[in-house]
Amino acid sequence: MSRREPLIFEISGEGKRGFLLPPLDVPENKEILKTIRVRNEIAGFPEVTEPEVVRHFTRLSQTNFCVDTSFYPLGSCTMKYSPKINEKIASFPYFLNCHPLAPEDLVQGNLEIIKLLEDYLCRITGMSSFTLWPAAGAHGELTGMMIIRAALTARGNPRKVVLIPDSAHGTNPSSAHICGYQVREIKSNEEGTVDLQDLEKMMTDEVAALMLTNPNTLGIFEKDIHRIAEIVHQRGGLVYMDGANMNALLGKFRPGDHGVDVIHLNLHKTFSTPHGGGGPGAGPVGVTKELEPFLPIPVIRKEGDKYILENDRPLSIGRIRTFFGNFLVLVKALAYILSLGGEGLKEVAEIAVLNANYIRKSLEGIYHLKYSSPTLHECVFSDKWQREKGVQNVDIAKRLIDYGLHPPTMSFPLIVPGALMIEPTETESKDELDAFIDAMKKIAREAEENPEVLKEAPHRAYVRRLDEVAAARNPVLRWKGKE
Ligand SMILES: *Cc1c(COP(=O)(O)O)cnc(C)c1O
Repeated sequence: MSRREPLIFEISGEGKRGFLLPPLDVPENKEILKTIRVRNEIAGFPEVTEPEVVRHFTRLSQTNFCVDTSFYPLGSCTMKYSPKINEKIASFPYFLNCHPLAPEDLVQGNLEIIKLLEDYLCRITGMSSFTLWPAAGAHGELTGMMIIRAALTARGNPRKVVLIPDSAHGTNPSSAHICGYQVREIKSNEEGTVDLQDLEKMMTDEVAALMLTNPNTLGIFEKDIHRIAEIVHQRGGLVYMDGANMNALLGKFRPGDHGVDVIHLNLHKTFSTPHGGGGPGAGPVGVTKELEPFLPIPVIRKEGDKYILENDRPLSIGRIRTFFGNFLVLVKALAYILSLGGEGLKEVAEIAVLNANYIRKSLEGIYHLKYSSPTLHECVFSDKWQREKGVQNVDIAKRLIDYGLHPPTMSFPLIVPGALMIEPTETESKDELDAFIDAMKKIAREAEENPEVLKEAPHRAYVRRLDEVAAARNPVLRWKGKE
């Protein structure tokens, strides 16, 4: 992109029109116009021709980096390629044109799709039931925590505290807090997993639940999950698993078989809805048999050969989303699961893990690894060695843009100072991974030989290094007029 794209207001010129109607060949009826409240003029509204509008927005769309154009290794985000066939299926007119308030009798097929997906998610995770209504991962966390609160309240005491490891995803503490719990942090050991001694010390009768991101944000599998669940259950608490990164575990590990009471998944990561850009997602929540009465309404049940919506459930946490959640996301997830099948899903996990470890081994010794345990779907390097030359993770990230690659997640998790968190996902070929590894190696060499070039990167992007602090503190959100 060689030139700055002007604002549409800057392209505007008085009298320019996108479309001209032929002159009236009937008498003008001013009375009708009055009844529909026509606005003569909108102050400052841009006046532009049709080609100007089309070109302006097409050019803007091309400044957007996306997974359909390039490798996107954003850690903990699973920016994988989602097969287009599933978009196509979700856009069948029967799905698109269905009214959200259509009576049950007319949407039996849609209810069957929801029920079928629920059953598959139970089989994949080993949970007893799922609710598919939450609209995002964090929404699933909140729903799950509300279920835990309701269940403990029914037992007599909702308790006060939720334990969260320092390697958890950032949304976990906020979900627990919004649900009215105090958050206490559990330390990681040198391997990057939950420190069992610390957990034993912290797990008191005040603790409602442990929220465990697994694999955690270091990409490491919590292999002591049995012991962890035992410690929590012995003291009457419940185990919540953040399963947003289930692409690393499909067909390999069923959380419900290993002491997990509540889990959420991110369909818009693992199950074929592209992630990011504020589009719709879904964060289904799975629970054990014991917690089923607390699931949000409606619950879909089959009676004879008819699906019915059950709303009369006295222990339910209530409704958490309008209509049927983000239904089209559910359709895509089911299409994805059915098209891959059990063996295909297993292969997803195998390749996701293989790809992350290929990157980890290839860059080991070039970038510092605070935790050297083998990882699952992602790996976390740091800028420790480059920092000695005055180069920070942000400089490395920005330089990747010059090589046509999206930067990894930066400065997270907090337990790795100067973190670069890389998740290649299962959809990338070896060529793609090699190109990324190559660019990272070149950047490490530049940090030694020519650190200045990194500090000014990106050089080949549409915009250069932005002043992010000024952008956050002093955002310009309104056009102030032509200079
Ligand atoms: C992405 C993610 C979330 C949050 O999901 P949203 O849909 O963005 O709310 C939670 N936990 C983990 C581990 C994640 O990777």
